Formats: sequence, structure tokens, C-alpha cells
Amino acid sequence: MRRTLPHLSGTYMQIEKDKVVSIVYQLRDAAGENLEDTSDGIPLAYLHGHDNLLAALEKALEGRSAGDKFDLTLSPEEAYGPVREGATQRVPIKHLLGNTKRLKAGMVVRVQTEKGPVTATALKVGKFMVDVDLNHPFAGKTLKFDVEVVAVRDATADEIAHGHAHGDGGHHH
Ligand code: ZN
Repeated sequence: MRRTLPHLSGTYMQIEKDKVVSIVYQLRDAAGENLEDTSDGIPLAYLHGHDNLLAALEKALEGRSAGDKFDLTLSPEEAYGPVREGATQRVPIKHLLGNTKRLKAGMVVRVQTEKGPVTATALKVGKFMVDVDLNHPFAGKTLKFDVEVVAVRDATADEIAHGHAHGDGGHHH
């Protein structure tokens, strides 16, 4: 018979919809080049089951609990898709989100579009206009994740209503 250990129940909370999950991860491309590394900083906190991460990454996290470590390789199709030709557009700089004071070619930017914000790369910066490549910076890349689950907790009603995690590593309002 399996004993329940109520004092440890938090430790074994499983990742499922409406849990706030904190992870640290290293992300490399197929050649092993580092793309992102959160292992030295504040863990990323996200609300599970609300499309906050790549679908294939959320699927791999489902059912895991704090302390779990795993690696995951995603093809471009499972990640940000292939590189699209003709995805260059000239947009007003005022349509970029965040601080654009030090905008220069090569920088990753967020562009406000009719379909919501998208991640792009600045190609050529003018006075009022900027040419951007609307391909995601990781488009066409195979992504290799090294993930560690740091914590799992129940989301608050506010977090579920907003569709994202609050507090350390999450959204601040
Ligand atoms: Zn919020």
C-alpha cells in the first residue's frame, strides 16, 4: 500500500494546467552554440497550459515535478519553424516595443502588429523607419534544451485570469 506523506505534498506537486512552474534552462543550437542560458539568473516562471512556452516544451514538462532534469531536442518544425523568404518589412520605429534609443542592425526587437507582438531582427535603421526580418531569431534552428524544474505551485486566480505567472521570474505590473 502506498502511504501518503502530507508534509511533502508540495515537493511532489506535478506540472499540469494552471500550475506556476519555475525552470532554469540552457538552450543550444544543433552545433552546440549557446542561445540562451538562465542557469545563473532568476528562474523563468510560467503558467502551464496557457501557451506561454513552445507547445513541445510544455508537453515535455507535463507531469514532472520540482527537481526533475531532462533534455529535449526540438526540430525547427517543433520550435520556431523554417526560415521564410521575403519576411523583410519596413516599419515605423514607433511600432517597436520597449526601448529603441540604442536601436541598431542585428538587434532582436519586438514589433507591434495587427496579430499582436512578434519577435524580429533589425536589419537597417533609419531615422523614423527600420527594416526588420520578421523571422523569429531561432527560425530554422534545431533547439537543444537542458531543463531543470525548480518549483511547482498552484496559480492564483489573478494569474489564471491574466494567462501568465506573477512575481519573481514572471510578469510584473
Ligand atoms: Zn498579470
